[in-house]
Amino acid sequence: MCKRDGPPPPGEHPPHLGPPPEQFDQHQPGGQEQADHGDRPLVYGVDCKNDHFNDPRAPYCAVCGIALVQRTLVPYKGPRPPLGVLVLDDGTALPLDSDYLLGRDPERAPEVAGGSARPAKVTSPDGSVSRRHLRVALDGWDVNLVDLGSVNGTQIQPPGDPNFYDIPPNEPVTIAPGTTVRVGVSRTLRFEAHRG
Ligand SMILES: [Zn+2]
Repeated sequence: MCKRDGPPPPGEHPPHLGPPPEQFDQHQPGGQEQADHGDRPLVYGVDCKNDHFNDPRAPYCAVCGIALVQRTLVPYKGPRPPLGVLVLDDGTALPLDSDYLLGRDPERAPEVAGGSARPAKVTSPDGSVSRRHLRVALDGWDVNLVDLGSVNGTQIQPPGDPNFYDIPPNEPVTIAPGTTVRVGVSRTLRFEAHRG
């Protein structure tokens, strides 16, 4: 029969089974940010009858508009779809699949350099938009605004309300679909949740 070669001494592990060296936190200033569209955050949601993944709090599907009958739906965890778009007054549409840093000079903001937000350059002739003005921060199914201590501030007009309201600096404010946002004095954008 087969004779075994000597077994490895007990308690001794081959050296190549150790933990791999850390290779993923090297910061490369000026380097191209790795595409991160593949690792969308996981959130709890429900499917409509047509298998569109939705915010469990939503009364209607954000894609096809069908009513979501809560009692028959069981939330499960899945990759978060885009939460809609922000449409600027010049027609630019920002898909809400990542955080954004809005301002006159967003490229140099630390949030953009660090890869946690995409830059969205917004300028105004009156100079009322700060270089680093507003962060759009996605949290679960919520779209939050954080005014970054901008000089002229950020205002929101909730849907169906004729008035604009200042938001406090450095504090996340959740906005509802249909909200108009004024950045500085003259630039506006609108949050559209429908993603069909
Ligand atoms: Zn649907």
